[in-house]
Amino acid sequence: QKKYDYLIVGSGLFGAIFAHEMTKQGKKCLVIERRSHIAGNIYTENVEGINVHKYGAHIFHTSNRAVWDYVNSFVEFNRFTNAPIANYKGKLYNLPFNMNTFYQLWGVQTPQQAHDKIEEQRAQYSHITDPQNLEEQALVLGGKDIYEKLIKGYTEKQWGRPATEIPAFIIRRLPFRLTFDNNYFNDTYQGIPIGGYTALIEKMLEGIEVKTNTDYFSDKENMDALAGKVVYTGKIDEYFDHQFGSLDYRSLRFENEILDLPNYQGNAVVNYTERDIPFTRIIEHKHFEFGAQPKTVITREYPEDMSEGKEAYYPINDEKNQQIYQKYKALAGQLPNVIFGGRLAEYKYYDMHQVVEKALDVVHAQKL
Ligand code: FAD
Repeated sequence: QKKYDYLIVGSGLFGAIFAHEMTKQGKKCLVIERRSHIAGNIYTENVEGINVHKYGAHIFHTSNRAVWDYVNSFVEFNRFTNAPIANYKGKLYNLPFNMNTFYQLWGVQTPQQAHDKIEEQRAQYSHITDPQNLEEQALVLGGKDIYEKLIKGYTEKQWGRPATEIPAFIIRRLPFRLTFDNNYFNDTYQGIPIGGYTALIEKMLEGIEVKTNTDYFSDKENMDALAGKVVYTGKIDEYFDHQFGSLDYRSLRFENEILDLPNYQGNAVVNYTERDIPFTRIIEHKHFEFGAQPKTVITREYPEDMSEGKEAYYPINDEKNQQIYQKYKALAGQLPNVIFGGRLAEYKYYDMHQVVEKALDVVHAQKL
């Protein structure tokens, strides 16, 4: 008889939901976490009374009522709506592309005028019938003004290369809204947990044994011996010792600053869409929670290549990496007592609501 039913590697959203649900079923769980804190990439840290999103800005959004009710059963969510602003050479534009943006770009005031203007802009590129790269694709879909002011520089910074060297399929369509609606997401439900995401994960892990600063690979054999099954939410290539090569990721560098003023930019997210400014955006964390603290915390976000010691943020969804991933997945399938789940173990860019859905599916399968 082993000491635990489940050893859960990683205290992010996936691991926390799994541990919570299984504990509720009377199973014994141990959660181990390599970092010094719980909550994975949704970790928020209290600085000057402000919940700072330490691994990048996180906005919860879903159209799945069950998922929304589920997360709200732990902590209440506020009414935050993501409405980012773009700054291009000192001029501000609303995002996503909507009537406000078109008014700011061209002075057009009616949906018909906006439609005609976009068509006029696009017509200049109608000779491009088979776009070969992101630049051509964006010009065909939206024309020069939108591409140059709002897409080009930002995307080049994100990818670390010129738009002419980024594949066209990245942009399939450009969502144009002919209404004055700055809400970035189309989902039915949206918000931020009151008290921050760490409070959400703390609630999920209430009463469950958690060991932080504990790396699974530092003592894998002994840890495996503790439990009947392992739930692994770390990088899948690391689990198999990179035997088929390393999977690629994009990373980010965050530069945090505490400012002695109550309001720096008046919005949670401002994108800097010109190439010459090295960061992609500035996050002002207090605005996720309508904060009225005397100080403010801002974060400049710099996209970076992945290298030793950096956090893996975005899986790279290209053919080469998918092929490598499929090999690891096949190996994982041969281990009946190890469950691979979450963003790193499935090498998939999951949003939070998708992680919730996925974790609850896996829990359900365990109960059968
Ligand atoms: P993680 O949170 O990565 O958790 C895995 C945990 O396992 C980590 O804590 C890690 O330290 C631990 N671990 C790994 N290896 C080991 C080991 N060997 N031993 C012990 N512990 C280990 N989603 C949204 O819905 N909305 C957003 O606005 C949004 N913005 C995002 C912005 C950024 C910059 C990023 C990177 C992601 C964003 N996401 C967003 C996605 C969201 O972060 C993920 O869906 C979610 O955090 C995934 O949870 P997870 O448990 O799978 O992974």
